Amino acid sequence: MRKVSLWAALLGLEKTVVQEVEFVDSDEAGGACPPWVRVSVRATKRAGGRCGRCGRRGSGYDPGSGRRRWRSLDWGSMPVYLEADAPRVRCRVHGPTVAAVPWARHGAGHTRAFDAQVAWLATQCSKAAVVQLMRVAWRTVGAILARVWADTDAATDRLAGLTRIGIDEISYKRGYKFVTVVINHDTGALVWAAPGRDRATLRTFFDELGAQRSAAITHVSADGAGWIESVVRDRCPQAVRCADPFHVVRWATQALDEVRRDAWNTARRAPGGSRQGYGAGGRRFPVATGHAQTLKGARWALWKNPENLTDKQAATVAWIAVADPRVHRAYLGKERLRLLFQMSPQDAGPALSSWLQWAQRSQLPSFVRLGQRIAAHHDAIMASIEHRLSNGPTESVNAKTRLITRMAYGFHGPDPLIALAMLKLGPTPPTLPGRNHPRICQ
Ligand SMILES: [Zn+2]
Repeated sequence: MRKVSLWAALLGLEKTVVQEVEFVDSDEAGGACPPWVRVSVRATKRAGGRCGRCGRRGSGYDPGSGRRRWRSLDWGSMPVYLEADAPRVRCRVHGPTVAAVPWARHGAGHTRAFDAQVAWLATQCSKAAVVQLMRVAWRTVGAILARVWADTDAATDRLAGLTRIGIDEISYKRGYKFVTVVINHDTGALVWAAPGRDRATLRTFFDELGAQRSAAITHVSADGAGWIESVVRDRCPQAVRCADPFHVVRWATQALDEVRRDAWNTARRAPGGSRQGYGAGGRRFPVATGHAQTLKGARWALWKNPENLTDKQAATVAWIAVADPRVHRAYLGKERLRLLFQMSPQDAGPALSSWLQWAQRSQLPSFVRLGQRIAAHHDAIMASIEHRLSNGPTESVNAKTRLITRMAYGFHGPDPLIALAMLKLGPTPPTLPGRNHPRICQ
């Protein structure tokens, strides 16, 4: 192998001529940066002289603003930068534009291999791992994710073959901003996401899907929100509308928590329900004791499915059954509702009616309200039981997107967040650069 092609291979470069490779000592910048490697490159004749935006061949316009630098993957622990001229070409469509380079996306300061590795890492590791390993700012990771996703999206049709979908909303920025998401129930993949949670946002999904593919949708599950309901009724009226079991159970859990909080407040205000605590700087605050303390700690035990309880949590639930029958009644109400979704449609119908009667007479205000809400979504709930729309995919996508929204702090705008969600949970996950050979021995 000739030396120049060895360099190109080491850097994972295609359609590129390596002109010079040199070591730059840290002394050059007054010791402020680590030593690095400068690789001077140019595009091959065939790859050069093309518009950076569309790839059409253009005529030379001007030499641009001199040499430019792109961050490449490190060699071992040493940073590597590519350097090249960045002339402008005159494109028939885009006018004077910086010429395309084979090693990087238009306007990017990192090579394609670098972008690919960052995108893959962001879907696999923590924020700190990506930032420290790749020596980039988190905001830069956001920009890289957005451009990798834009390319992935352009190359695949993620809306092909959809029949059963789930529509949901995810909040971020501490619940101030929202993203509407669509999942494919058959694969569990996230297939669409866009900022906003309103009719206009959801309509753009159906616009993208098109009339023909909208007509192929057989089932739509959602959380019962009016804006989803109305757009679905309008755009795919043939689809069976189902209530996501995940959301229905969550409503019940919230109703239960209201009962628990009430009981806790009553208990801690009762004589002997709390004692004085002392914080930093002599700050005083009440600390729940006894009954109130157990109720406060019971939140997770009451939320979890009984089969997943730890021994200690099971003991807490057993204690509540004896000490606070009202909270326990609410707990049983939540459990009965949850188990409905595991019944056959024949059994679930009467069970749901009997549950609704129970809720109405429960004397638990939050469950009376829950009963009214469930009654309003009766048909959608029965549809999801009848059509066995699995709760799994929505719930797991929901849990994962919540993790992603937590990672999204520090990103600029919703695009990087959506890119990360689509790359991590979508049908085409990112691949590491240079991994197209299936097997490497040892
Ligand atoms: Zn162009």
